[in-house]
Amino acid sequence: MSRHTIAILGGGPGGYEAALVAVQLGADVTVVDSDGLGGACVLTDCVPSKTLIETSNAMTLLNRSAGLGIASGGLATVNAARLYERITDLARAQSADITARLAAEGIKVIKAKGALAGPGTVRAGDAEIKADAVLIATGALPRVLPGAPPDGERILNWRQLYDLTELPRDLIVIGSGVTGAEFASAYQALGSRVTLVSSRDRVLPQEDEDAANHIEDVFRRRGMTVLGRSRAQSVTRDRDGVTVTLEDGRTLTGSHCLLTVGMIPRTEGCGLDEAGVKVDARGFIQVDRVSRTSVPGVYAAGDCTGVLMLASVAAMQGRIAMWHTLGEAVHPIRLDHVAATIFTDPEIATVGVTQRAVTAGEVSARVLKLPLATNPRAKMAGVHDGFVKLLSSPGSGRILGGVVVAPRASELILAVSMAVEQRLTVEQLAQTFAVYPSLSGSITEAARKLMEFTRDTP
Ligand SMILES: Cc1cc2nc3c(=O)[nH]c(=O)nc-3n(C[C@H](O)[C@H](O)[C@H](O)COP(=O)(O)OP(=O)(O)OC[C@H]3O[C@@H](n4cnc5c(N)ncnc54)[C@H](O)[C@@H]3O)c2cc1C
Repeated sequence: MSRHTIAILGGGPGGYEAALVAVQLGADVTVVDSDGLGGACVLTDCVPSKTLIETSNAMTLLNRSAGLGIASGGLATVNAARLYERITDLARAQSADITARLAAEGIKVIKAKGALAGPGTVRAGDAEIKADAVLIATGALPRVLPGAPPDGERILNWRQLYDLTELPRDLIVIGSGVTGAEFASAYQALGSRVTLVSSRDRVLPQEDEDAANHIEDVFRRRGMTVLGRSRAQSVTRDRDGVTVTLEDGRTLTGSHCLLTVGMIPRTEGCGLDEAGVKVDARGFIQVDRVSRTSVPGVYAAGDCTGVLMLASVAAMQGRIAMWHTLGEAVHPIRLDHVAATIFTDPEIATVGVTQRAVTAGEVSARVLKLPLATNPRAKMAGVHDGFVKLLSSPGSGRILGGVVVAPRASELILAVSMAVEQRLTVEQLAQTFAVYPSLSGSITEAARKLMEFTRDTP
């Protein structure tokens, strides 16, 4: 029997994770990638930003160290050149690891810009690849605000930050979604003066309201200027700085401006129209829950589909596409169990049913919120901010969702995520051992309090 042939456009998590699954199942796999394996995830977005945030976390700790009894001889400062070099070195090394892994698995990689060229055909430079199935995983690009084209020096998108030679002295961040909040938090900790401009009432408008209000309060307490209901109209620059003009006529000045106003699909020139692949009103490729597009044999995964723009989701969509096309048993993707984190300080991690869905009457749930300030380990570490929130079904007592706002909430959320995925009840979580003293003790304590609440409420 001849081997199935798979062609994958894009070598980010959507593409390379799919390639690994397909080759494991015996397929002949070719990945066409233009910018480097690992994709924007590894080279410019997720990995570099999280590496920057590791340094900003260390700064926060150092600057809090006096309260822990450490005499450090003044404020720690950042060596920007060294910091950015570390970030880009680490990203390149991660991309090299992925390249080596794909080569070792026998996956062909073509470094070129590719496009669909008829049914089951991909063109990559001079090469034409015939394939039984094609996966498009070309990612997305930073949206440009009309009136504020980035120049890479003072008006920047997040992919241009690491080319700077210094820390922005006075940074204006436009956009208070996840990316804007993460960079505002990080640069504030690194020593920049930060102004965060939000067009909405509050930062992180799509997230848990308690968590968003909490982080906004933390930002303000630490000296950040947060401007709500302020829509930026244009950004101009002179030699030493930038001027941001808001729609209501106010102006702000700073040394640099970072634009975080969303993403657009990176599908131009991919031959979607010619092949008849349907896109939505914003240009994202339409897919079903097993990653099929409107054209038989053509799948899509990751940011180019606009489905929850997370590396973990991109990778799962890519794997599902391969399991489906190669005839494996496959579960359609479930987005209601995706665990996600906003890497501010403190971090905000979420999973499952949201309080917004409960308030809107879409789901019936009991909600319990427990501040972290009473947790003994938090006291020892000098942590005053944060909370644990659990949501449970009033009938079955099952854990439906949760929010953790804490240092390393990205790690702590696993316990709640397992409870949601494995359909554990409040009692089962409450009876689980947590280490004493530990921040995770607040998760089991919240479950115990939810049990009392469940007993008391008819
Ligand atoms: C600042 C920031 C921080 C983030 N942090 C996190 C995080 O902490 N956790 C998380 O889960 N997610 C995070 N994300 C989201 C995550 O980076 C994306 O969801 C992920 O990169 C999507 O993977 P992808 O494979 O769809 O696309 P990408 O990673 O963008 O990869 C696409 C690849 O396709 C290639 N390509 C594009 N067009 C073509 C073409 N025509 N021919 C050949 N190759 C092509 C590109 O060169 C690229 O290598 C973050 C995003 C941003 C912006």
